Amino acid sequence: MDIQTTLLTSLRKLAEQHTMQTLGDRGGYLGASDIGYCPRKIILDKIHPACHDLATLLRFQRGHMAEEIIARAFTAAGYDNFERQVEIVLADDIPLRAHLDFVFTSQSHRIKSVLEIKSTSRIPDGAYGSWESQLYLQMGGLARQHPEYTVRGAILVLDLAHGDVGFFNGYEPEETIYRGLIERAGTIWSQYQAMLQGVEPEMKTEVTPLCGYCGHIATCPRFETEEVPQLAGVVEALQELQAREKNLQGQIKHIKGHLFAVVEQQGPIKSGGCLLRKATRSRKHLDMTRLETFLTQNGSVIDEYQEEREFSFLEIRKAKAA
Ligand code: SF4
Repeated sequence: MDIQTTLLTSLRKLAEQHTMQTLGDRGGYLGASDIGYCPRKIILDKIHPACHDLATLLRFQRGHMAEEIIARAFTAAGYDNFERQVEIVLADDIPLRAHLDFVFTSQSHRIKSVLEIKSTSRIPDGAYGSWESQLYLQMGGLARQHPEYTVRGAILVLDLAHGDVGFFNGYEPEETIYRGLIERAGTIWSQYQAMLQGVEPEMKTEVTPLCGYCGHIATCPRFETEEVPQLAGVVEALQELQAREKNLQGQIKHIKGHLFAVVEQQGPIKSGGCLLRKATRSRKHLDMTRLETFLTQNGSVIDEYQEEREFSFLEIRKAKAA
């Protein structure tokens, strides 16, 4: 068995064990973390659980590590007033549960603070809507369970690869949002039950850039036709960023050119807390003329050693008007 297969098999086993120990059978209830996502995806994921690939399993482990790091950091800082993986039942009529990563309690101030940990590969500018939905459910449930406490919430995001931290703080329970989310969960649950009984309800779909990672895109009615207007905003945002990137690259090249001309004439200088100097590196390159001559002398041509390799990228072109 190669190392990839060993890792894949053992991490799958670990993920199953972790889910059973901390969350139980996820087919039997809805989790607060589900509710902010596309309803159709949530239901179909429950009916046909995905067999996770190595990249996803490693991301799960990164999430557990992030929580452990934070727990150790708080303990080292002398905090002992927190509980971990606090389970809360959120509704009476549907099995909806929240698992709170951290709950800090101040008995003297009668405050309970929820801290949700997220691990990402880039710290976003703001908390994602799905994270906030989860936090509002967690805070709402905790406030109902402990009416004598003031409840607060925050999301702490770790980017373990780059050592970055993001902190989105200042959340408080919002009754209207909480009720809306409970209602949304009720609809998802009843449609899930209908599917289990063999009825095919019309499930709500929510198109986002995350559809690219959805295992049910091939059968998704939103992608049946070529036109997907819900992604127009994302496409426009990407084009705007690309235009800015091009502009920035031009500006960077321009300024670099000026500074290079200075150090080329003047030698090394110090400015803006930096040392600027002309650096020279060498890089090996193939002398194609000599190589071709050598190959021809030995009865061969360079084409024989060239092979085509496929690669994929996102091409964006102006669509023709219908
Ligand atoms: S492809 Fe997008 S809209 Fe369709 S089910 Fe998946 S997440 Fe929902």
